[in-house]
Amino acid sequence: MVAELPSETGGADAHTGSPAARLTVLSGPSGVGKGSVVAEIRRHHPSVWLSVSVTTRKPRPGETDGVEYHFVSEEEFARMVANSEFLEHAEFAGNHYGTPRRPVEHRLAAGLPALLEIELQGARQVREAMPEAHFVFLAPPSWEELERRLVGRGTEDEDTIRRRLEAGLLEVAAEKEFDIVVVNDRVEQAAKQLVALL
Ligand code: 5GP
Repeated sequence: MVAELPSETGGADAHTGSPAARLTVLSGPSGVGKGSVVAEIRRHHPSVWLSVSVTTRKPRPGETDGVEYHFVSEEEFARMVANSEFLEHAEFAGNHYGTPRRPVEHRLAAGLPALLEIELQGARQVREAMPEAHFVFLAPPSWEELERRLVGRGTEDEDTIRRRLEAGLLEVAAEKEFDIVVVNDRVEQAAKQLVALL
């Protein structure tokens, strides 16, 4: 699998100079393996700074508050939205997710790289706010493979899987909105490509 080169208008050179140029946004359909790629990066490149999102979803077995996510109630999430505490936020498959604004802004103001792993609606909001950021789309090797991974994960019930697949159809179609496409054929390889881009 090959990372496509950035287009001329959205290419790397056009991004340099602004603090937001150090921001990389990783998006892609649910089930494509964004989480596995990010876990791989955490394991082998602990110096890579990853934003910890806030969510109203319940923790899955093995997830720790403050590590994979900050888990909050709907009321707390709504309060954070009202206080403009999010850089972006979205509803996905019945739960809310958001990127806390301050930690990301601090990193970028210090000239340091930052990585966000978010779904498509959120990526679009970040592009509105920070068009100089780099937008990376993690694509599945095929639609059949995406379906297999979502079902095989075994962490969601049938209704949730259906909703995530529906969202996935729209998300796969959005690939062309991104600067770079990385195909997640092998997690280690995809992680390596992403780190090289940071
Ligand atoms: P999951 O529930 O499987 O952890 O995440 C569901 C989806 O929400 C994934 O596509 C994930 O990338 C996305 N997501 C995680 N954190 C955020 C966030 O802060 N903002 C947005 N917009 N999406 C997020």
